[in-house]
Amino acid sequence: MFAAHRPSGRPLAILSALAEEQDGLVEQLQDGQRVRHAGREFWQGRLGGLHVVLALSRIGKVAAATTSVALIERFDAGAIVFTGVAGGVGSNVQVGDVVVGSAYVQHDMDASPLFPRYQIPLTGQTAFAADAALERALLAACAVGLQGLQHAGRTPQIHQGLIASGDRFVNGLDETRGIVEALQSHGHQPLAVEMEGAAVAQVCHDYGLAFAAVRSISDRADAAAHVDFPLFVRDVASVYARRIITELVRALALND
Ligand code: SAH
Repeated sequence: MFAAHRPSGRPLAILSALAEEQDGLVEQLQDGQRVRHAGREFWQGRLGGLHVVLALSRIGKVAAATTSVALIERFDAGAIVFTGVAGGVGSNVQVGDVVVGSAYVQHDMDASPLFPRYQIPLTGQTAFAADAALERALLAACAVGLQGLQHAGRTPQIHQGLIASGDRFVNGLDETRGIVEALQSHGHQPLAVEMEGAAVAQVCHDYGLAFAAVRSISDRADAAAHVDFPLFVRDVASVYARRIITELVRALALND
């Protein structure tokens, strides 16, 4: 299933947005080797029998794109999976839930009237889709990995849909409403906002690589977003990421 989307022998890149999410993966890495490149640290090794390379994306679209290019050009990544946190903007997307992205749009891309709003100039594309097989594998890994967990007395819900990325930490209801309503008026229905996903999706599109991402919802992109954020990352997102990625590499290694 997955092998068809990852040329054989090439490692799966696992990008984490935050150090807390990556720490648990580095601990589990077999034959782990740290390599410094482009002012970043990359970890090569095996996870659950699968060849992987781990990296922190860094924050924001340009940083995440640079990291993605390095993963492909220097570390020969055959596919990229991303874990991070995001603000929930879909009406039923709550803190403690996860969103698996099926497509990615840049909410701050606007070269109109030269190009239609949100379109990435010279590509003719507005949203970049996740790889269908990798997205399915990630969804299945979420279902198994999050089993039995609760957050604030509630079972984490797994959503699937559009993720909107931009170089802004969105932390106000007016700001959120502005972003969501503008996207909706162009036919886009975002479930979550974050700062990297659409950049990684665009790089993977250019290189013809499979990409999929999951975001744990740390906040509702409102005035309390920055308050909720640090505790959530430490106590919840790091646990989710470790469990989901452990399941994912186990399933992919079986299909390799
Ligand atoms: N204090 C953090 C900085 C986090 S920046 C640190 O020192 O590492 C916010 C990160 O969380 C980005 O990776 C972004 O993708 C995601 N994120 C979570 N909630 C968000 C929101 N409401 N708006 C935009 N990005 C958000």
